[in-house]
Amino acid sequence: MVGGGATAKRSGVTPLLRNDLAGAASASLPPNDLLQRIRPAERSRLLGFLELVPVDAGTALCTSETDLRYVWFPHDAVASTVVPMPEGEAVDVGLLGPEALVGTDPLYGGRRSATTVVVQIAGHAGRMDADDFRREVVVRNGEPYGVFLRFAAAYQRMMAQLGACNARHALLQRLARLLLMLDDRRAPKAIDITHDRLADMLAARRASITEAANALRHSGALEYRRGHIAIRDRRPLLAASCACYPVVARLVSRAEPAGGGRRNRFAKPRKAVERWK
Ligand SMILES: [Zn+2]
Repeated sequence: MVGGGATAKRSGVTPLLRNDLAGAASASLPPNDLLQRIRPAERSRLLGFLELVPVDAGTALCTSETDLRYVWFPHDAVASTVVPMPEGEAVDVGLLGPEALVGTDPLYGGRRSATTVVVQIAGHAGRMDADDFRREVVVRNGEPYGVFLRFAAAYQRMMAQLGACNARHALLQRLARLLLMLDDRRAPKAIDITHDRLADMLAARRASITEAANALRHSGALEYRRGHIAIRDRRPLLAASCACYPVVARLVSRAEPAGGGRRNRFAKPRKAVERWK
């Protein structure tokens, strides 16, 4: 996969399409929505610097207080911003999927990552060398810089909202909210995540997660089998979730450029019934 980048840079054709090793996978990958918001000519130029790579669950895409080597544009991977607590556990305060850019620090002149971002659902992401990003996005100060800054501002507000959510809302509400957020980022696939990982993301005991998930299953909202969760009906999830879900979904929607007419997957709750892959 590493070899595709230089060729693509010379030809100006996206390595996401020309990467032979990832070709089969990339053909069916959803796009990164943030990159899709950029006008085609500028997006093609930027894609020449990206390399598509698989990312496994548990991989840190960036680590707090260390130099940022890459910025990442998830396609079908989902990651979360993790805050390590002095007691040893970690708490999730934000979710990043195909609507996102991971590694916003260079937008503000930072060379080190202020946060730790860990992959929660394995998949693929386009990565861009942080120096290329500084030169091609920040120094050029063109359309992508504005698009990414709007996203970064929305994401900061999401982290604040979810920090408050963790402090005030019940586990069942937070689990329903998290499943809706994961569903937004993974549809139409089943959500490939274990109860253990959900427990880590919500800083809860596994037994408590199982109890809450069973309540949602009995409401008809979901099914789960061998680590995969399928959303059967979003309505019970919307009813069970705290009010943070529409707030954070709206935040992502607001990251759209003014006048952008593209359909936003977060704009309206979907009624789709998920099917097992
Ligand atoms: Zn909440």
